[in-house]
Amino acid sequence: MTAKQKQWQLWLLGYYTGTIDGLWGQLSVDATQELQQDYGLDGDGVFGAKTAALSMDIISDLQKALTDGTMAIDGLAGMETSTAVAEWQRSHGQTVTGVADVSTLNLILAVAADKNPTSENWWENIRYFSRSEFRCRCGGAYCDGFPAEPEQLLIEQADQVRDYFGAPAVVTSGVRCEVHNANVGGVAGSRHKLGKAMDFRVEGKSASAVLAYVKTLPAIRYTYAIDGSYVHMDVE
Ligand SMILES: [Zn+2]
Ligand SMILES: [Zn+2]
Repeated sequence: MTAKQKQWQLWLLGYYTGTIDGLWGQLSVDATQELQQDYGLDGDGVFGAKTAALSMDIISDLQKALTDGTMAIDGLAGMETSTAVAEWQRSHGQTVTGVADVSTLNLILAVAADKNPTSENWWENIRYFSRSEFRCRCGGAYCDGFPAEPEQLLIEQADQVRDYFGAPAVVTSGVRCEVHNANVGGVAGSRHKLGKAMDFRVEGKSASAVLAYVKTLPAIRYTYAIDGSYVHMDVE
């Protein structure tokens, strides 16, 4: 990522207020540090690969929430995304800045989540689980709880497992945001970040018994038992 692009990332998210000129000075370092601190990274002020990935994750979510289908979801801040933010602010009675600082960002994401009817309808057909059980366990520190929506196919499989054992299933980890995933030692490519993985246990059943059954489900891409106490399973 070029210095100019880094400044764009920081500017769009409300951390950098200087000129976007690619000259990396104290303002850029300070802005980087603030972003890092807000999202639970080491606040060293160095805009490296981790910070770049974090900023791209945040901006991708923003773009997904703003797009009418024409904007590229590339996680890269620029005039197009800023204009979309400004238009959103105008149509929602907000001060028009074109900048998505933390409170603006949360507002945009919350409105988009409410407006997305397809994301929740299928929950009505799920017998044993509710969406809230899959909320990111960072407790709202680094995300709004749903940086990704739980995948329908995954939850349908969970329902089937729960039905088969006829005992309560407890979700121990559902969707994870970038920071929470890192904090719990999840691999970078973890499917938890996509809403496509869950960890759970079934009351009164051993992890190996649950695992044996999950392995028979063709829709499950990958599954394993963790510490003999709970089972991870994910879908494509
Ligand atoms: Zn989180
Ligand atoms: Zn897992």
